Amino acid sequence: MTAIQKNLRELLTELDGTGVQLVAVSKYHPVEMLQEAYDAGQRIFGESHVQELDEKEKVLPKDIEWHFIGHLQTNKVKYIAPYVSLIHAVDTLKLLKEINKQAAKVDRVIDCLLQVHVAKEETKFGFLPDELRELLNGNEWKELNNVKIRGLMCMATNTDDSLQIHREFYEVKVLQDELKDRHFQNDSMFNILSMGMSDDYQIAIEEGSTMVRVGSKIFGERYYPNR
Ligand SMILES: *Cc1c(COP(=O)(O)O)cnc(C)c1O
Repeated sequence: MTAIQKNLRELLTELDGTGVQLVAVSKYHPVEMLQEAYDAGQRIFGESHVQELDEKEKVLPKDIEWHFIGHLQTNKVKYIAPYVSLIHAVDTLKLLKEINKQAAKVDRVIDCLLQVHVAKEETKFGFLPDELRELLNGNEWKELNNVKIRGLMCMATNTDDSLQIHREFYEVKVLQDELKDRHFQNDSMFNILSMGMSDDYQIAIEEGSTMVRVGSKIFGERYYPNR
């Protein structure tokens, strides 16, 4: 067993019985490393750059579920629309509409999560809670038949203050419950809450996460080219 396979197994043992799904975040790692995780049974991989995802999708097994977890530019949606299984970080109505349009072209319905901005950092994308309420109170999203809103996604502040991280994840869980009540009451598909990364996934699970996005704890440190 390789180091990646050992890390993966430890993580899956921890998640066992919680019902929480694991997205193995493989950005910046070579396909050989993804293949190791695949060989150990992992099928859900998360990537955050369109070109890199496209290259990996071409050469890796076809039963992989590719999740796009990064900030997605509208002009790049068309490249991943034919195969992406879940887009985590939808942060504007414009992007949701573009995903709908590109999904229609390839005759698909693409699952999406709406990203909530809770972190106290200006660089993080996402809707403020009130912006999300406003979006869902409107009718435009209801006419988008080629996207399916499956839930919310967020990133907590990058801090050592675990109480703050608890608070942020809790806030998003409460928001998810509120929106479920108001707009998705009879929709069993509105059931994904994507929160938690290598450093905070345990807190996220305590606060109600159903899907964690873990990279470095499986694959090790990332090497960022050209940075
Ligand atoms: C890179 C990334 C992750 C994984 O981060 P790790 O700290 O390596 O687990 C999770 N979510 C998003 C949106 C990311 O960009």
